[in-house]
Amino acid sequence: MHTHNGRFSYSEAPKPLAIVTALHESHVQATILCAKKNGIQIRIRSGGHDSEGLSYISDVPFVILDMFPLSSIDVDIENESAWVEAGATIGQVYYQIAKKSNVHAFPAGVCPTLGAGGHISGGGYGNLMRKYGISVDNVIDAKIVDVNGNILDRKSMGADLFWAIRGGGGASFGVILSWKIKLVSVTPKVTVFKVKKTIEEGAIDLVYKWQLIATKLPQDIFLRAVHEVVNVTQKGNTKKTAQVTFIALFLGNTEKLLTLVNKQFPELGLKQSDCSEIPWVNSTLYWYNAPLGTPIEALLDVPKEPLSFSFKTMSDYVKKPIPKDALKSILDLLVQYDGHLKMEWNPYGGKMHEISSSETPFPHRAGNLFLIEYLTNWGEVGVEAKNHYLNISRSFFEFMTPFVSKTPREAFLNYRDIGIGGNTPSNVTSIDIAKSYGSKYFNRNFERLVRVKSKVDHENFFRYEQSIPPLSH
Ligand SMILES: Cc1cc2nc3c(=O)[nH]c(=O)nc-3n(C[C@H](O)[C@H](O)[C@H](O)COP(=O)(O)OP(=O)(O)OC[C@H]3O[C@@H](n4cnc5c(N)ncnc54)[C@H](O)[C@@H]3O)c2cc1C
Repeated sequence: MHTHNGRFSYSEAPKPLAIVTALHESHVQATILCAKKNGIQIRIRSGGHDSEGLSYISDVPFVILDMFPLSSIDVDIENESAWVEAGATIGQVYYQIAKKSNVHAFPAGVCPTLGAGGHISGGGYGNLMRKYGISVDNVIDAKIVDVNGNILDRKSMGADLFWAIRGGGGASFGVILSWKIKLVSVTPKVTVFKVKKTIEEGAIDLVYKWQLIATKLPQDIFLRAVHEVVNVTQKGNTKKTAQVTFIALFLGNTEKLLTLVNKQFPELGLKQSDCSEIPWVNSTLYWYNAPLGTPIEALLDVPKEPLSFSFKTMSDYVKKPIPKDALKSILDLLVQYDGHLKMEWNPYGGKMHEISSSETPFPHRAGNLFLIEYLTNWGEVGVEAKNHYLNISRSFFEFMTPFVSKTPREAFLNYRDIGIGGNTPSNVTSIDIAKSYGSKYFNRNFERLVRVKSKVDHENFFRYEQSIPPLSH
């Protein structure tokens, strides 16, 4: 059930030698010591959303360490913080915060079933990032089991390791047991809206303008642009067309939001009837496309079955507005791909531009206009279908080359893409190959991550296809 990509649940997929389900911290310690003694690799899984399945699949003999039962959440409103175990989902975190306060929140992702272990250690961004940064900017302590089976906290692990696990991917350094997170303030009600425009309704001009203003808007608003393909019926004929949904979270009321949007982005034609004022916790469900009024208990759901459809994600960072003619070609290409590829464009600015790119291993800060997530998905099974859709995803990525960051072409670790480089997880982990993905995920922070790795795990026990290698390997 913690296999969130049909691409890796085919019957011939490599199977683990064993799955160890950690019910207690000591089970994590024992798994590390036993695997190390027997020369077996481990794959650590919390929520199971790794886009390339690297938390539960590998070509070498391996054991899965499942963290999902370790999922307690202890919210301390007085001190505006919470201890969250790695196996908790972020939906459960949002729910437990809301049970204690309607003016506190935590900046993390949009999909409620993401596991705190993987999501936070990979950065963790969501619609509060312009106001408060990403998840790792709001982590104040952590508990980790190191390669010797010791349980360390912020103080005992030291500044370097605490820096590395906040965005460098935990699985290169140890097993995250829990995070202490800082809660942030939100208004008792926030305002949300979705405005949808097809190409025929002026989507291209709107997206062009969005690129110019979304980064400069006040930090209280996050306005994402989702590009996808929909069916439209005109005069009895149905055809496919590209549509852009502008979806907003605003920390304030409708009146203020209307004034702001109609001044800075009047072309959107935002109306009062588009807006809903709801508690922040309900907005997390609205952003996940749940209907307004969905009970917040939906945030506690964990998938009962592995996901049946397959997907591939990739990412890009954009530093200059994309010209209108290119926007048209991009949207036309989406239509050609028949709705199998969609994009989410996430604006930067605000806090993201204020935090230094070396503060955490996550380097994508000032200078970026927006982050693109590409999502290719398909329901067909079999190798032929898989290759077909992976080709679509790769050619679209190639097509985007002129419009996105260069040298390196930056990528977001949480949207893991094995196509940007990967090692075979044998005894030797090539630094050169690691540089190919490491420079894209971490830019100049890659070198510091290698130094930390060399210090805390010089035998390279914690390794996988895109891990950080120590210097000697
Ligand atoms: C539907 C969907 C929506 C998403 N939305 C967002 C979003 O809004 N924002 C965002 O930032 N990302 C998003 N992501 C990406 C997501 O954050 C990453 O896939 C993240 O790694 C998932 O963490 P996990 O624990 O669920 O996954 P897992 O597959 O369990 O783990 C992912 C990686 O972290 C490692 N890991 C897991 N647990 C631990 C641990 N306890 N200690 C050490 N290492 C560990 C794994 O070994 C693996 O390398 C989304 C992904 C999907 C599939």
